[in-house]
Amino acid sequence: MKKSNIIDGKKVAKSVIKGVKEDIKILESKGVIPGLAVIIVGDDPGSKIYVARKREMARKVGIKSFVFEMPSQTDTKEIIDKIKVLNLDNSIHGILVQLPLPKHIDTVSIINTIDPSKDVDGFTVENVGKLVTKQDGLAPCTPQGCLHLIKTIEPNLKGLHAVVVGRSNIVGKPVADMLLHEDCTVTTIHSKTKNPEKIAKTADIIIAAAGSPGLLDKNWVKEGTIVIDVGISRVSKDNKFVLSGDVNFQEVQKIAKAITPVPGGVGPMTISYLLKNTVKAAYNSITN
Ligand code: NAP
Repeated sequence: MKKSNIIDGKKVAKSVIKGVKEDIKILESKGVIPGLAVIIVGDDPGSKIYVARKREMARKVGIKSFVFEMPSQTDTKEIIDKIKVLNLDNSIHGILVQLPLPKHIDTVSIINTIDPSKDVDGFTVENVGKLVTKQDGLAPCTPQGCLHLIKTIEPNLKGLHAVVVGRSNIVGKPVADMLLHEDCTVTTIHSKTKNPEKIAKTADIIIAAAGSPGLLDKNWVKEGTIVIDVGISRVSKDNKFVLSGDVNFQEVQKIAKAITPVPGGVGPMTISYLLKNTVKAAYNSITN
């Protein structure tokens, strides 16, 4: 197996975390301990694992985390009331609501109640607007992580053709905006796109964020492409559940210039950028 073209997301994430720790030391010297509040509603086991991981990583770097677990029958107003309290709490610099929320809850209203200066997921309309208009704000974590991984392979993206598979608000659209700001020519593929393989095969960079395990095989990728696999799905293999990305790794690794594995690619970057955003929000709280 050719190994040299695998992008080690864990290693790159460690370098981001090193910078976060250094920034936290500076903040501590100014009497600020960054605080992150995480709201989780319901009992989704996947969400619980993600929140536990975020909490553990926050603890390791010196961010104080506060997890608020709310039962699945909680209504929109109760969550909004909780966020309003956290917005006014000076010891909290970052607030995130673990998604997805139970179906009866108005997710858009919840997200937009978060003070944009504490919106460490970068999902509020204000931060989305800042990203689109290239202003400094809090940008979503997974897209920032993707861009960082691409730049470990190719620092100058000017003029490259980037194809993003997926157009969600949390991955596809923001990563497309970030690539546009890097002067890439960006094409977005979604479920209604005709001949997606043909389009993807012209890409220099592919970001796969469809949530469809193994969707991109060798017919989607030309030789020498940088492939970033955001997808994480649980699939059953040999009578047990394993994690699968959107890319057929076995096939695509043979032709890609560089490729991220799942797990160990984009996932660790998402958490490290969450910590980075929390520290940025804490900095902003004393400088703005
Ligand atoms: P999402 O909201 O379900 O969006 C999926 C997007 O992919 C949609 O725009 C959809 O098109 C498109 N799509 C689905 N099947 C397709 C197909 N066969 N061909 C072309 N386009 C297709 O998902 P998401 O929240 O963006 O997440 C995407 C994946 O990334 C999931 O596996 C998720 O678990 C993973 N993820 C990983 C991380 C991480 O840290 N590694 C973070 C976030 C998400 P339409 O718009 O037309 O429906």
